[in-house]
Amino acid sequence: TKQVKSDITIAQEAELHPILDIASSIGLAEDEVELYGRFKGKITFDAIEKRKGATEGKVILVTSINPTPAGEGKSTVTVGLGDALTRLGKQSIIAMREPSLGPTMGIKGGAAGGGYAQVVPMEDINLHFTGDIHAITSANNALAALLDNHIHQGNELGIDPRRIVWKRALDMNDRALRHTVIGLGGPVQGVPREEGFDITVASEIMAVLCLSNSLDELKDRLAGMVIAYGYDRKPVYVRDLGVEGALTLLLKDALKPNLVQTIEHTPALVHGGPFANIAHGCNSVMATRTAMKLGDYVVTESGFGADLGAEKFLNIKSRAAGIAPSAVVLVATIRALKMHGGVNKMELATENTKALEAGLANLEKHMETLEAFEVPYVVAINRFITDSETEITLLKKWCEDRGVSVALTDVWANGGEGGLELAEKVLSEIETNKKVLKPIYELTDSISEKIEKIAMTVYGAEGVDFSPKAFKQIEQFESEGWGGLPVCMAKTQYSLSDDPVKLGRPSGFRITIRELKPKIGAGFIVALTGDVMTMPGLPKSPAANQMDVASDGRAIGLF
Ligand code: ADP
Repeated sequence: TKQVKSDITIAQEAELHPILDIASSIGLAEDEVELYGRFKGKITFDAIEKRKGATEGKVILVTSINPTPAGEGKSTVTVGLGDALTRLGKQSIIAMREPSLGPTMGIKGGAAGGGYAQVVPMEDINLHFTGDIHAITSANNALAALLDNHIHQGNELGIDPRRIVWKRALDMNDRALRHTVIGLGGPVQGVPREEGFDITVASEIMAVLCLSNSLDELKDRLAGMVIAYGYDRKPVYVRDLGVEGALTLLLKDALKPNLVQTIEHTPALVHGGPFANIAHGCNSVMATRTAMKLGDYVVTESGFGADLGAEKFLNIKSRAAGIAPSAVVLVATIRALKMHGGVNKMELATENTKALEAGLANLEKHMETLEAFEVPYVVAINRFITDSETEITLLKKWCEDRGVSVALTDVWANGGEGGLELAEKVLSEIETNKKVLKPIYELTDSISEKIEKIAMTVYGAEGVDFSPKAFKQIEQFESEGWGGLPVCMAKTQYSLSDDPVKLGRPSGFRITIRELKPKIGAGFIVALTGDVMTMPGLPKSPAANQMDVASDGRAIGLF
């Protein structure tokens, strides 16, 4: 196989077309793209408005089995499938999330696909890109400063400083900022109180930006965010402070979808990036919608496994945006399945059909979940060079025996060429399979019923236990009139259960709901399970240790 080069080397060797050429390939005029250099652009609101009535293309959602340190390659398959559809002569557009600097510096490295299936310029996309995430950080922290100033200036709203739920944010993994104290130093320094930081991609503003269809909707949703409770225990909203206008102003450019390209020049909208374990995990509705107006097929991705990202796409984003995928791609790797079957990370290169067979239980659970949502799907085997022919044949046959469409995918080594079988199978699912998306809970279900339905149908849990705090909060939220919102589960990505070490398909477990968080602007209630953290930490040997920059400005070691 020809892939011996690192992702960044391949990306840097790619010959990019000017972004205006990419834009014109999907019918965008020169004045409909705001340039951020030669290879990045933002699509204007005018361009989006003009295409309001245009026919919409079909959405293909890429998801996967539970991630393991072995790597699944969802972004890689997303990009490769987009390129394969282009090769088949389809007008295809990719709609992906923007990477957060926290994971980039920490364990993940780049998040712009891999091998010969990448979006470029990958350095920019992985670093500051067009500044959207920084704008979100600024808006988040402007709100925090305005809130503390309100209290300092006399606290007319009667905000209880012990019941502030709005936190400051930073786009970095910085565990030392999880719990802090602010306002120390005497009366002119503000009112002392406990504070904490979340990673920016966990900020409600990221979710709000990703679920808004327009600037006006963005402003409405920002106004509706709960930031604190008063001494009277009633919620305090952004609109009570009257600063939604200022926040929207800070975000006006960040709301415009970013246009880039793949190595093979398929147009890609890379926009918005909430985590899928603590937030809803999908790229922006603005970008997905815009891609649907501009292309016939939109390949999009949701974070982590189908238990998190796809569940949230299908229960939250689909409802908020009125978007239903025409087909889902469920990515699996033989390496990860072997890990689910009990093999340790160091031994994944050795053929082991027993472990593969045992690990298939994880794939099977996610297939059942997609069947419960009644969406057509294709299993994509993302091929690694260590996979043996026997293992590949076993996995293919196992799917075929169940009547499930399966395709071996080699896009990492071969780009779009390696995704043709997958593209053809996806197209044929879309043609022949006329299932209609069925969310697995109704909005009219109570908050606890929604959580129970997700835990039992999607995770395979026997039931749910609510902490006394969560129990009280459910009552409170329902009396505030928030009971009709969808639920956004905050759960570990590594296991179907809330215990990250239980791989494969755990059974006989219950899910514990520790606490709930009202994200009223985003339009969902977050339910926290296990120890999911909203500010990650860096590992012992961070990816940052490998990074450098050459004297000519070329990035080194960015993955
Ligand atoms: P995910 O979106 O599931 O997090 P990515 O697509 O970002 O996964 O891939 C994670 C890493 O794994 C990337 O560095 C990518 O280059 C690598 N990778 C993906 N697919 C393959 C493959 N088939 N062979 C080797 N490496 C791969």
